[in-house]
Amino acid sequence: MSLSLKNGVFPSERATVKVDFSVVLPECALRLGSIDGYVNLGNWFPILCVHEAGGFYECEYSPFGDPFYSAAADYTVSLTVPGEFSVAACGNCVSTETGERSTKYVYEIKNARDFAAVFSKKFHITEEKRADATLRVYYADCPFAEEISAAAISALETFGRLFGKYPFGTLSVVFTEFIQGGMEYPSLVYVSDALGKEDAISAAVHEIAHQWWYAAVGNNQIETAYIDEGLAEYSTLLFYENNPTYGVKAEEIINAKTSELRAFYGAFEQINGSAGTALERKLSDFSGEYEYVETVYAGAPLMFDGLRRGVGNARFFAGLKNLYEDNKFGIVGRDELILAFERAGCDAEGYINSWADGKVLP
Ligand SMILES: [Zn+2]
Repeated sequence: MSLSLKNGVFPSERATVKVDFSVVLPECALRLGSIDGYVNLGNWFPILCVHEAGGFYECEYSPFGDPFYSAAADYTVSLTVPGEFSVAACGNCVSTETGERSTKYVYEIKNARDFAAVFSKKFHITEEKRADATLRVYYADCPFAEEISAAAISALETFGRLFGKYPFGTLSVVFTEFIQGGMEYPSLVYVSDALGKEDAISAAVHEIAHQWWYAAVGNNQIETAYIDEGLAEYSTLLFYENNPTYGVKAEEIINAKTSELRAFYGAFEQINGSAGTALERKLSDFSGEYEYVETVYAGAPLMFDGLRRGVGNARFFAGLKNLYEDNKFGIVGRDELILAFERAGCDAEGYINSWADGKVLP
């Protein structure tokens, strides 16, 4: 949607735009949809295109990946829902007004790239207050909700220590009907209620890592998905490495990703004659979900692992801290990624370029 303002706006001026719209919820277990007593309200409202060199960036939808790109902004959202529903939403609930048949909640969140919520009549809620955040887990029928809460607390602690302070005061982990393992929104994550305990922990940790990579440090997820997905996936490995009681070995994750990626290249080459190896590709430049998944969830974490082994732990983690602190609530591309590691004393340019452009194979 584009609109022309009556009067032009100078860089220091503001314009207010009011958009009236209604959404019909599809009956499905997607980011946006309603099913089995859950309402998933993700990616549901018109959002301002990112303004960058060349003008407003127009997002193209894709059936795979997260085809979204937005700048951080402050949100105040009021939600009026039938009284029997509980609400999980991004940020803090700052007021609640109970009417005869409905309840009005007002939520606020600052520096958020999006605003999502989940409603259900079936939610139980656990709450744990920690120094960096209040953690809530929303679930209907989950025998391991306490373990998920403990894992989320450990993830907040581990990532806070390795990358920098958690950027939002609240975190909601929401079990809902969802076709994939999970989905990240600022301070709120979906986890599929169909997952068993180990997979649910792993999905929750991956989505929580996205609070640093995607929510705080933004990137164009249509063109550089390898940055946030690669970092979120590698952070999941770091979680297991730093929390050995879960019994998942980092080395085994790396070996599994390496053989998975090699098997993919082998199979793909036999069918198509050649396989694309560049990590940095637009969603529309992948042949489909299989190639996308292998590239960003296997290839990109292997790039970060190789970098770490090349430069050593001290400089690698200093680089991740730089990436976070220098770009919190901003947007990064390949240049900023390279710069963060260079500022930590690593000559990372050639290495990252060769992976991003597909000149290396694991
Ligand atoms: Zn992810």
